Amino acid sequence: RGRKEGKNRFKFYSSDLGIQNYKDYIIRTQLHHAIENNELKVYYQPMVNLKDNKVLAAEALIRWEHPEWGTISPGEFIPLAEENGLIIDIGKWILREVCYNYSQWIQKGLPDIKVSVNFSSVQFLEKNFVDNIIDIINEFNVNPNFLIMEVTESVIVEKNRKCILALKKLRSFGIQVAIDDFGKSFSSLAYLNSVNIDMIKIDKFFIKNCLTNKTTNVIIGAVIDAAKKLNINIVPEGIETWEQLYYLRDLNCYAGQGYLYSKPVPLEDFEKILAKGKCKPVIINRTPVMPQ
Ligand code: C2E
Ligand code: MG
Ligand code: MG
Ligand code: MG
Repeated sequence: RGRKEGKNRFKFYSSDLGIQNYKDYIIRTQLHHAIENNELKVYYQPMVNLKDNKVLAAEALIRWEHPEWGTISPGEFIPLAEENGLIIDIGKWILREVCYNYSQWIQKGLPDIKVSVNFSSVQFLEKNFVDNIIDIINEFNVNPNFLIMEVTESVIVEKNRKCILALKKLRSFGIQVAIDDFGKSFSSLAYLNSVNIDMIKIDKFFIKNCLTNKTTNVIIGAVIDAAKKLNINIVPEGIETWEQLYYLRDLNCYAGQGYLYSKPVPLEDFEKILAKGKCKPVIINRTPVMPQ
């Protein structure tokens, strides 16, 4: 069937199976081709110094630009790719892309920033996982120190021994390790007894509630305090408002990420941000209040 029929088929399935089932079905059957058809894209979101707006790093976030469906978010296809194992190929693809882009930035004389890449726990199950990463980094002849590997707490808590060994090897090679989505699930730093980490990224739901929920507020304060004593960088995600920014600045939080600074953007747009070296929080236009 040709692409032209796509919209009609969509109508049929949307009433029959439900739109989500149909979308899942499309993702399952077409994700194989996404890499070879050049439909995957890397977007970058700046990680910014909260005091002087300097761009410190970028998080690489994958997008699937589907010819019929438009942009499909990773939240929709990554879980399915984890289920059918395609995450292994996708993971290698994005790491290559990131190494290539980073090497270009250095060549163009753009600021030498870090780049963080999300890794799923499924990738850790791959045979030769560590060696394959090292091979890709060497292939592009880049300093492994530029790379931050983002993993969720579940990687360390569930898959334990194998993962911890892998993380140790990667760290000794020079790659930094970040705990992503901190606060979403376990919110314990007990794993620090078995593996050293370089960065903790506080989940956006925590940041959303930090000003209204006393418990969240206290937990964030305590985590920031603990991290400082342990020499771990704390990076809040999902900073959307000035109030949140002021609050985090007051806690002496060094770096952060969020729509207030920038959404994840395509490579060309990110290079413009990088050329400036700074990324200012966007002043949100408030509707002027009319005099009574
Ligand atoms: P994540 O690693 O926690 O990435 C941060 C997510 O928060 C991104 O969603 C980003 O666009 C979003 N975000 C950033 N700032 C804000 C904000 O101020 N407000 C709100 N509401 N959201 C914000 P995105 O790009 O849709 O990615 C979703 C998840 O998909 C990521 O969550 C990550 O776990 C996963 N993912 C993305 N790319 C990859 C990849 O290459 N490999 C793997 N394994 N997972 C990936
Ligand atoms: Mg992340
Ligand atoms: Mg993540
Ligand atoms: Mg996160």
